[in-house]
Amino acid sequence: MCGILGIYGKNNAASVAATGMFAEQHRGQESCGMAVSDGKVIRLRKKMGLVKEVFTEETLHELPGTLAIGHVRYPTKGSATEFNSQPHLVETLAGPCFALASNGDIVNYKEIRNYLEDRQVYFNSDNDGELLLKFIAYKVDREGLDIPSAIKEMMAKIKGAYSSVLITRNELYMFRDPYSIRPMVWGKTKDGAVVVASESCALDTLYVTERKEVPSAGIIRVNEQGIEVFENGLHNYRETLNQCHCIFEQIYFSRPDSHHFHENVYEVREKIGASLAELDKDLEIDYVVPVPDSSNFIGMGYAKYKNVPLSWGLIRNHYVGRTFIKPEQTIRDESVRQKFNVLPNFFEGKKIVLIDDSIVRGTTIRKIVDLIKLAGASEIHLRIGSPQVKFSCFYGIDTPTKEELVANQYPMEEIRKMSGADTLTHLPIEALRKCVSEPHNYCYACFTGDYPIRNEEYERSK
Ligand code: SF4
Repeated sequence: MCGILGIYGKNNAASVAATGMFAEQHRGQESCGMAVSDGKVIRLRKKMGLVKEVFTEETLHELPGTLAIGHVRYPTKGSATEFNSQPHLVETLAGPCFALASNGDIVNYKEIRNYLEDRQVYFNSDNDGELLLKFIAYKVDREGLDIPSAIKEMMAKIKGAYSSVLITRNELYMFRDPYSIRPMVWGKTKDGAVVVASESCALDTLYVTERKEVPSAGIIRVNEQGIEVFENGLHNYRETLNQCHCIFEQIYFSRPDSHHFHENVYEVREKIGASLAELDKDLEIDYVVPVPDSSNFIGMGYAKYKNVPLSWGLIRNHYVGRTFIKPEQTIRDESVRQKFNVLPNFFEGKKIVLIDDSIVRGTTIRKIVDLIKLAGASEIHLRIGSPQVKFSCFYGIDTPTKEELVANQYPMEEIRKMSGADTLTHLPIEALRKCVSEPHNYCYACFTGDYPIRNEEYERSK
């Protein structure tokens, strides 16, 4: 999971982009980068670290221009190094210079990389963003295509999830895979600048008034002539198909103040909470306690439906960061211990419904249940706002093998015992589907194993 941002037509574009990237910091905390054009030169800066650490006033001062793209990275494909950070930059033999940043994962990466390497295209990283960029640059440079045609060729050949931004010295392009797996929204500021981002919360911080989805398989070009939308880059290549938005963007990944896939994220989460409560009609409890922050709105939905008080019984230290997006288990374990504390003298003798959005490896929730038990709760009923995660994701989320997923390894009752909770219920998939307005347009593969785009990795994992 990563976050992208693009901006066209704004003085000090780098500073403005940094503000938008900061709003998307939850999507990736390992590294960040920016490419900025002043019309003549595209300058690139990328480094390991958070946006506020990397893009100091001094660094932003070195990036003049009105056109910029930015990226915050959580590594999925390619290790956590500066080389694999985005954006990527390439100067073609014919002269044009491109920079690209992307969110998602390419499932036929090896096949396309071999195709390009056989044609003497060289790579500096193992990152998907570089693959997309080099493919497009190859088509422009060696085959003489214009950029929209090169992107269309790319869409026909490259399979997977990509919400991407590309700049030349004087143009901004945004484009998205046919399934629209990752979110991508764009709009205009009052002074006419065009902004595109992974999440609308970033557009809001930049005072973008009208927000639109980048169309599936759509390409949008912004330049001196204005804005041109190529509605369907794959028009000649494919039959109509459903979109496959990642359902986990609504459950967990995205910020609750974002709006995408035609939904308010917080409302989907409240509905999930209400659906869980509907399953618990006969359960008597004193309080609903969500695991902050991603489960807060699920907890609110549960509490409202059941008419029981919601309590912020767990306090999160916001300086630790998200546990899920720490790349190694040891770092994740330490983070959990440092991340949560209980309210003093609150839990003693209380019957609690503890709400979490998902169980992936099962290590985090066990530690949280332990904490609440130690604090004296008499009953802990664990309610999970998603079905059991049994399959890996190949579209931009780091759940590398099925073996790491606790639900793939143990029956539910065993997981309940391991968690230490008195009862455990997951939201059934049919109930989850009712929480979104277009259920047929979502991907549920990590629950069902029914992958919308298949690849070698998938075949091996079966
Ligand atoms: S497999 Fe799961 S995490 Fe990956 S895109 Fe599909 S729903 Fe999202």
